[in-house]
Amino acid sequence: MDQKRDYYEVLGVSKTATPDEIKKAYRKLAIKYHPDKNPGDKAAEEKFKEAAEAYDVLSNEEKRQKYDQFGHSMGPQGFPGGGQYYQSGGMSMEDIFSQFGDIFGGGHFGGFGGFGGATGGSSRTRRRTRRGSDLRIRVKLTLEEIAKGVTKTLKIPTYVKCDHCKGTGAKDGVAYATCHTCHGTGQVTRVQQTILGAMQSQSECPECDGTGKVISENCPYCHGEGVERRDEQISFNIPAGVSDGMTLTVKGKGNAPRHGGENGDLLVVIEEIKHPELIRDGNDVIYNLMLDIPTAVLGGSVEVPTITGRARLKITPGTQPGKVLRLRGKGLPSTDGRGSGDELVNVMVYMPEKLTEAERSAIASLEGSPNVQPTEAEKHRLFSKLKHIFEQNDQKDS
Ligand SMILES: [Zn+2]
Ligand SMILES: [Zn+2]
Repeated sequence: MDQKRDYYEVLGVSKTATPDEIKKAYRKLAIKYHPDKNPGDKAAEEKFKEAAEAYDVLSNEEKRQKYDQFGHSMGPQGFPGGGQYYQSGGMSMEDIFSQFGDIFGGGHFGGFGGFGGATGGSSRTRRRTRRGSDLRIRVKLTLEEIAKGVTKTLKIPTYVKCDHCKGTGAKDGVAYATCHTCHGTGQVTRVQQTILGAMQSQSECPECDGTGKVISENCPYCHGEGVERRDEQISFNIPAGVSDGMTLTVKGKGNAPRHGGENGDLLVVIEEIKHPELIRDGNDVIYNLMLDIPTAVLGGSVEVPTITGRARLKITPGTQPGKVLRLRGKGLPSTDGRGSGDELVNVMVYMPEKLTEAERSAIASLEGSPNVQPTEAEKHRLFSKLKHIFEQNDQKDS
């Protein structure tokens, strides 16, 4: 079950090795597999960790005794304080370096120039760029605004650069002193006498974040933050054809970071206000038109709403319910500028429920009249058309 290598084997020492022999063996391995010497080498890192774990146990009298007695099969309970190493994952780099610190007296060794980067990739060399946080707002748009595109100007509470210190946080933007920690170089070099010998490492100065200078007197207006919160008037364009839930990014219009740097972005989330009469379907819009019987039968002209205003629509005599009339180009433009959708007018015919005596007799007089009944061929033609519409709807829903 446990495929761990024997700790004595890992360090290359005998079961009777003295603490000094163990220490020497570990020092050799630690230098050989040190991540600084083997950048990006996962196998070396594993060996390094394996050796550290072995050393952790064998260098501790109590842990070593239990290990000799029970080996790796010993559960964590048997190792008060040291048991966690027996669980999967082993020691982390942080554990290992804090172990160096504990054991060899260099308590500050733990940081080791951002040494954690050895496990995480290139973070050691990455220069921090300060960037403010993004702002997120919701903007409600009517279908009409979406159809044409719109420029919005809004007052948005934003962290902006403090004018008095130009965003630096230093009084008048000039109250700086040379960093005492790095003497203005922005880098710190650490030389450590450790089990690994003299180790030298360079890293960004933690005091001044690598700038070489520190603020000597805070800007009194922003209390050294470099930013102040203000209602900023921000204008941005929303292109035609956007849809509900879409997020637009306005570069550089978000919050300013503390102590200078790049602004975050303004993220504009689109919310579509439902149109009272039109239903959006992608780039098309749908209008449900209710015709009265005389217009459906005799034909005529009706007014329908469109995104750009009212339009007159010609109704041919004998317009069937379920028919879809297409107003080309009366839909919404696509955001990539490739044409526009249509308005689809979905025809329904209103069947009156209450009739006067005169109305009733007018309708009744049609009963049995030859043209009121469709022929078999006509029925077939109409049903196949309707069937076609149902299929279309099915496809849209799936
Ligand atoms: Zn300021
Ligand atoms: Zn410094």
